[in-house]
Amino acid sequence: MISPILPTYNRAPLTFERGEGSWLTATDGTRYLDFAAGIAVNVLGHAAPELVAALTAQAHKLWHTSNLYHIAEQEALAEKLVDATFADTCFFTNSGTEAAELAVKMVRKYWYVKGAPQRVRILTFEGAFHGRSSAAIAAAGSEKMVKGFGPLLPGFTQLPWGSVDAIREHIFADDIAAVMFEPVLGEGGIRPVPDADMKAIRALCDEAGVLLVLDEVQCGMGRTGKLFAHEWSGVTPDVMMVGKGIGGGFPLGALLATENAAQGMTAGTHGSTYGGNPLGCAVGGAVMDVVATPEFLGEVNRKAGLLRQGLEGLVASHPEVFEEVRGSGLMLGLKCKPPAGEMVNAGYAAQLLTVSAADNVVRLLPALNIPDEDIYEGLRRLDAIAGTLETGK
Ligand SMILES: *Cc1c(COP(=O)(O)O)cnc(C)c1O
Repeated sequence: MISPILPTYNRAPLTFERGEGSWLTATDGTRYLDFAAGIAVNVLGHAAPELVAALTAQAHKLWHTSNLYHIAEQEALAEKLVDATFADTCFFTNSGTEAAELAVKMVRKYWYVKGAPQRVRILTFEGAFHGRSSAAIAAAGSEKMVKGFGPLLPGFTQLPWGSVDAIREHIFADDIAAVMFEPVLGEGGIRPVPDADMKAIRALCDEAGVLLVLDEVQCGMGRTGKLFAHEWSGVTPDVMMVGKGIGGGFPLGALLATENAAQGMTAGTHGSTYGGNPLGCAVGGAVMDVVATPEFLGEVNRKAGLLRQGLEGLVASHPEVFEEVRGSGLMLGLKCKPPAGEMVNAGYAAQLLTVSAADNVVRLLPALNIPDEDIYEGLRRLDAIAGTLETGK
């Protein structure tokens, strides 16, 4: 008999009832160290006092009015994002997927109003993840996500992951609208696109005159030690999807764009009932106030150095279990030799929460403000888990 919850997830047999910082308490009272952070969402940990304060203050004032009216909290958050990034304008959504949907619409509309309506095709990478809507699964094109869900939205070509040569080969066709990819591949296995390749792809986009769309839903909001991952390379996109960490656990996403890229999106061309509502934007504003500061990002980099160094040590001492460390900042992956799922399950037994990714990688995505002692505790637990896997215990 089907469960009351549509069974689209293979869930771990764990239910949590409260959280504080990097720790979650299950209904049986067991405490778990959280290196998953809701899949890179809880950037300030659980029950962060600043976010609880922002949410409750807003909850007492105003929850929702619709986008029929001006929303002060939305305007304030948009200004913070515009001030801190390449973008001139933002649209708020409730998820990363919805931001990806709008990205596809925006780049197509851009070419439509520029008088080149044949430019509809978007070049993406194999192994990408942009969400689960019809457009987002068509963009990523993986068999696992698209099988049985056709006909798919046309107009996407997947190229071998990270291949600048493949982009060069395809980008000069007269139907290309944009190139779209994750600067650090998330679900696909924590692989950063090297800075030199980011620069080369931006240069190709400029040469071909097509738009560059970056999906920073997972790697953005301070995760890599910059507010957005593309900042490491010095290049900027025309359009960028944001999600996950932007609400620190409150459902929120955003599409950021330059004025040029957004020129087709006039009144009536897009909308959302909840997107940008006062509650979400009040929390998002509080997240930005903390994360988008040099002091906070400096700390993320310092903590990332500690974690990475510890993980390199684990790879050296458990060569039968770990192959390598990859990633950027506090978006790190351990490429495993035994199935990554076994590592994640062994983590549950050791009260350490991690997330698997493709390519047999275990993702470590702790809160960005994780205390140093919790980093060390996580490393100790990973060391113990690796020991049990080695001896087959
Ligand atoms: C999670 C994710 C999405 C989808 O975000 P949702 O909020 O689940 O809709 C899109 N792109 C990337 C890179 C992601 O990691």
